[in-house]
Amino acid sequence: MFNTILIANRGEIACRVAATARRLGVRTVAVYSDADADARHVALCDEAVHIGAAPAKDSYLQFARIIEAAKKTGAQAIHPGYGFLSENEDFAAACDAAGIVFIGPPASAIRAMGSKSAAKALMETAGVPLVPGYHGERQDADFLRAQADAIGYPVLLKASAGGGGKGMRIVERSEDFKAALASCQREAINSFGDDRVLVEKYLQRPRHIEIQVFADTLGNCVYLFERDCSVQRRHQKVLEEAPAPGMTAERRRAMGEAAVNAAQAVGYVGAGTVEFIANQDGSFYFMEMNTRLQVEHPVTEMITGTDLVEWQLRVASGERLPLLQDDLQISGHAIEARIYAENPEKGFLPSIGALRHLQMPDAVNFANGDRRIDSGVREGDVITPHYDPMIAKLIVRGDDRAQALARMSQALAEFEVVGPATNVAFLGRLVASVPFAGADLDTGLIERHHASLFPPAVQPPLPVLALAVAALAQPASASADPWADASGWRLNGSFQRRLRLLQAGEALELVLDCRRDGWRLRAADGEAQLGAIMIEGRQVTLSLDGQRVRGRVVRDGDSLHVFHAGTHWQLAWSDPIAHAGEQEAEGGRLTAPMPGKIVQLLVEAGAAVEKGAPLLIMEAMKMEHTISAPAHGTVAGLLYAVGDQVAEGAQLLSFTPHEG
Ligand code: ADP
Repeated sequence: MFNTILIANRGEIACRVAATARRLGVRTVAVYSDADADARHVALCDEAVHIGAAPAKDSYLQFARIIEAAKKTGAQAIHPGYGFLSENEDFAAACDAAGIVFIGPPASAIRAMGSKSAAKALMETAGVPLVPGYHGERQDADFLRAQADAIGYPVLLKASAGGGGKGMRIVERSEDFKAALASCQREAINSFGDDRVLVEKYLQRPRHIEIQVFADTLGNCVYLFERDCSVQRRHQKVLEEAPAPGMTAERRRAMGEAAVNAAQAVGYVGAGTVEFIANQDGSFYFMEMNTRLQVEHPVTEMITGTDLVEWQLRVASGERLPLLQDDLQISGHAIEARIYAENPEKGFLPSIGALRHLQMPDAVNFANGDRRIDSGVREGDVITPHYDPMIAKLIVRGDDRAQALARMSQALAEFEVVGPATNVAFLGRLVASVPFAGADLDTGLIERHHASLFPPAVQPPLPVLALAVAALAQPASASADPWADASGWRLNGSFQRRLRLLQAGEALELVLDCRRDGWRLRAADGEAQLGAIMIEGRQVTLSLDGQRVRGRVVRDGDSLHVFHAGTHWQLAWSDPIAHAGEQEAEGGRLTAPMPGKIVQLLVEAGAAVEKGAPLLIMEAMKMEHTISAPAHGTVAGLLYAVGDQVAEGAQLLSFTPHEG
């Protein structure tokens, strides 16, 4: 086994590799860009080397610097993770030349699988089934169209050098072929610097099923069964599971053996994935081979009880595969959800920003339990536009699919993020949806069920409003029940406090009645007695008509994020005091829109002030509020002193706005 490895990656995969290395007693060296100096992967490794600026092309793709860092730190091997340099044959060759082990397949195998067309030709000779199509060298438009006509429409055009769902076009009719070809070639040259394409039959309602393979340097090659990654958006995986629902033992063996053939045909070593596209009837065809570890490898680990990174390290250091085919078994069912900083409502557009609140479900990386989280970020870290906006991978295992589904729903309900938009709520709906729960899988699932997966927003129920109101009443510094002590605004007996919360710009009007016997909260669709409020940090507990309600409330300026019963409610507080002056400027008066206490006077009578200048601070609902000048003008008179209690509607000062 190696004594030191360098991890040429970042984020969750770098953390995940570091965790296994640590368990095996292998020293780790991290590399990092300017953007990642404080990143979690750097903290987890024994040593770290700075390799350049934030853009990946200036750091994580700078392979000379990475190899230099390995030499300098005495690393004998480099783990490339996925993405970045993991499928770069030149990098693999450069490692070889530098006498450093590349933890992955030989450069020749990467090259053989690097072109979809060449890989298909190779697979054909190895007897692996292919989607009907043309993947040869001839590229003239008339010839390709004749091929498409022969295959039968719809056909799919793919960039030979493609990846990540780029450079693909569905063509429905012969008349459309040439325009689609031109557009596919343009995208291919822009994305991959290579405009060669292949044409294949476009399958209807296909499933994406892939086989994990593993080979050692001693000639052993096994398959670790399949993963179903059919649930995709824009050809990118969203949920992955193992085993594939409905897979029979015979078909599993046939696909597994085809995948092993594919790997052996290119002299494969290490972890690889052979991707197949399968018809609903179970027939399957080779799509491509990814010559690296995959993002979704944890579901395979969960059902086989293996650590594939450990296998990678052992195989790369010349050891035999830890288990051979007959030793491998499937136990239970695992599902992975990719938690992304993205906005599903806006076409899954990436979202960036600081993770101001990050509460992940209770789970430890590589715990032997049924829940696992692989993440490269912590609360406070920033999702930047430089890298993939993944926050974490959430993986669960159950004895069967139903149990795994239930565990996934539960874990998603516990996943709380405030900061960038995320797909957590969307994933929750997806996992619970009829087609996914019923395993009616195909790559078009999300698009076909768009309407039910994106239901219209509902108004928050009373418990959520009560949690928001309770948190609003909490001053930043207090720790105990803020409602217990009789603050000034209660002295005048009972009163009514109106509150306005906003949800997606829509106003929610609330009335809080303070009576001798306690509080009553009224909203549009109900009311209840509110009491026993306990606030510990972000955790809020209260009672609503005697029922205990618990939730977490994160306040971020005027935004209120309430996490209750597995749902994230985003509300805003429309602070009447902050806007108090706006409507009253004309009258030259400023009144207290709620009962409170004057805590500080910031101006003297007669002072000339600019619009927006702070005039006085009052405390109401246990929070301080600054009352500001509604216009340029003169403070004609102060009507209260510090410490005075003021009633709702009381005029606080008289103010004369200047003309113009
Ligand atoms: P990439 O390398 O860009 O990820 P793939 O060849 O792996 O491209 O295909 C990505 C996805 O596109 C597949 O998972 C599947 O959803 C869809 N796809 C690929 N080939 C076909 C096909 N012949 N018919 C229908 N869908 C396909």
